[in-house]
Amino acid sequence: MANLRFQALQEVLRRQPVDIAFPSNKISDYFGINVFDRQKMQKYLSLEAYRSVQRSIEKGTRIDRKMADEVAAGMKAWATERGATHYTHWFHPLTDATAEKHDAFIELSDSGSVIENFSGSKLVQQEPDASSFPSGGLRNTFEARGYTAWDPTSPAFIVDKTLSIPTIFVSYTGEALDHKTPLLKSMMAIDQAASEVCLYFDRSVTRVVPTLGWEQEYFLIDEALYHARPDLVLTDRTLMGHASAKDQQLEDHYFGSIPERVSAFMKHFEMEAYKLGIPVKTRHNEVAPNQFECAPIFEEANLAADHNLLIMDLMKNVARRHHFRVLFHEKPFAGVNGSGKHCNWSLMTDNGINLLAPGKTPRTNLLFLTFLVNTIKAVYEHADLLRATISSAGNIHRLGANEAPPAIISAFLGARVSEMLDLIEHNVTDKKMTPDEKTELKLNIGKIPRILLDNTDRNRTSPFAFTGNRFEFRAVGASANVAAPIIALNTAVADQLEQFKKEVSSLIRKRIKKDEAILQVLRKYIIDSKSIRFEGNNYSEEWVKEAAKRKLSNVRDVPSNMDVYLTDKTIGLYDRQKVLDKRELEGRTGVRLEMYTKRIQIEARVLGDLAINHILPTAIKYQNDLIENVRGMKEIFDEDEFKEFAAARLDRIREVSAHISGIKAKVREMVEERKKANIVEDIRKKASLYSEKVYPYLDIIRDHIDRLELIVDNETWPLPKYRELLFVR
Ligand code: ADP
Ligand code: MG
Repeated sequence: MANLRFQALQEVLRRQPVDIAFPSNKISDYFGINVFDRQKMQKYLSLEAYRSVQRSIEKGTRIDRKMADEVAAGMKAWATERGATHYTHWFHPLTDATAEKHDAFIELSDSGSVIENFSGSKLVQQEPDASSFPSGGLRNTFEARGYTAWDPTSPAFIVDKTLSIPTIFVSYTGEALDHKTPLLKSMMAIDQAASEVCLYFDRSVTRVVPTLGWEQEYFLIDEALYHARPDLVLTDRTLMGHASAKDQQLEDHYFGSIPERVSAFMKHFEMEAYKLGIPVKTRHNEVAPNQFECAPIFEEANLAADHNLLIMDLMKNVARRHHFRVLFHEKPFAGVNGSGKHCNWSLMTDNGINLLAPGKTPRTNLLFLTFLVNTIKAVYEHADLLRATISSAGNIHRLGANEAPPAIISAFLGARVSEMLDLIEHNVTDKKMTPDEKTELKLNIGKIPRILLDNTDRNRTSPFAFTGNRFEFRAVGASANVAAPIIALNTAVADQLEQFKKEVSSLIRKRIKKDEAILQVLRKYIIDSKSIRFEGNNYSEEWVKEAAKRKLSNVRDVPSNMDVYLTDKTIGLYDRQKVLDKRELEGRTGVRLEMYTKRIQIEARVLGDLAINHILPTAIKYQNDLIENVRGMKEIFDEDEFKEFAAARLDRIREVSAHISGIKAKVREMVEERKKANIVEDIRKKASLYSEKVYPYLDIIRDHIDRLELIVDNETWPLPKYRELLFVR
């Protein structure tokens, strides 16, 4: 068979952009047509049933059986009118993917004929045979079964003729087996704590929701090239490949014009996203060649998390129709920028106030400063946890790798907001302020909005940056379910706000005026959490040293990060806020460790296979060619000439031979290490062995292969090279 690589390259060069048909030129004509949203509920439900769902969404009240039957009937009527034949509960097991199991709407009637039916009980609860989902041992010790339960706060939608109903996934004994359950609980926790604090400022606030706007980065690779790279197919990243002479040095890709085939793909998946009510807004090229980003308008966090998972699925499916494959891996190509998923996070009240947006008056700015400072304090207290939530086999390549936020968590505020905090730190004291001091401070606090308007300073190296009216958690990996970091953030901030409320109340009880009490507590927090604030370049060596001086932790390896989930501090936090209990945390940590271990195991196997079965035969063939060539030289040249001309050849043969035996030896050693790790029962110890003993071989073996790539005849090299993967399209 001819070299797959060249076949693939020819195929790519023949590609044409795929034509797509839009339902209409106006997005608003078809936005949300496949979603059972408010308008459709109003049309398909009785007023009573509609109100019952709305109450459940806003107040978390139960929907009774009769109402559930009505909602199910309405949903079914709408869905079948739109061509749906099946329904599924749609949930997010701990694998970072989504899960579904389709059932037809049909039932047998008494007379034996088939009728379309969908009852309330099927809407509300299901029991998928889901025993194969990872649960970190939770289900072994308790009930083997798990069930899914309807989440009315995220509307049902139709994909591929199937009505999909967002659900939580829990064990029969009540432990969460998914991401959504604790996300919803963390939203309840922050709603409660934040609403209470809002009452200091605005008696009309009854509800606070966290908002989330994610920015999804990804790579696109032509499917022919993708299939010629077994490492991409099986691990989502290239396990080998020498750097291309040109990659992103010229930064000519960033925000450049979007290639035609790519643009067709983007328009296509955006159109499909609009039908599902996902408000995609922004698209652009990213820094690396063939890297792109899409971002929607922010939404309430639970919905935003669902939409992110939905769009990732959508992108994968639509990409196939354009002969592309989407890579969500955090680092598909060594030496080229990786992909993150920035999470823009804020808090919004039910009367429309963004709590992290500076206000127009000293009063509203005190509200803003309260939430800002409490968030910083929460990040300071639980920096280790935040890092643990984003630590994974894929993301480890980004963190601390001098291109993405380091494994040190710090927060950037920008010059103006920092000034404000300094002002409070230095002007507020524990003793009562004089009326003049109060006026002075109030005037200064009142200045924030004017100053912020022209505040364009951004710090793109900060893992947690304030960007004018929200925080941007930039360290999240592109393939991750955003729930894990958002759960931690919601919970930590909720806990912090509760603490704040307690401290302010106790000062008020000591007859200190409310505003002054608030300022005093804020001042204390500003001082306590100062070490987490950093305005400089987070990618620099100096910061690593400076952070060490400030006693900020810097942990890269995944297993050590997982330990944070099981510290008393984390367990206490999640327990106080009723988000996850100790057993659930243990289960979750077990799953994360297992997924990490399996990923490294698969990467090691694939690399071993490619090294032995693809690279070595190619290298040996080239070695033979060289040897043949030297033999021929010996025949035609006299001894002196031979010495002169063949010396370089001999060196080459030695070099190739050294890499060949290097690869053989290192693959053998790696297999041995794997065997040793595999017999270890303890999941934490096993993960450590994979991290410390197996993982390093991936780089060592790769190095031999990448050097061979530069030497061996280009015509026989079996795998598409970086320059082809990144530039041929
Ligand atoms: P940048 O690339 O400069 O960070 P983008 O415009 O790509 O900015 O992304 C900004 C993201 O922030 C969008 O997803 C947007 O919806 C989101 N965002 C804006 N305001 C808020 C908010 N109050 N809460 C959550 N997300 C927000
Ligand atoms: Mg961003």
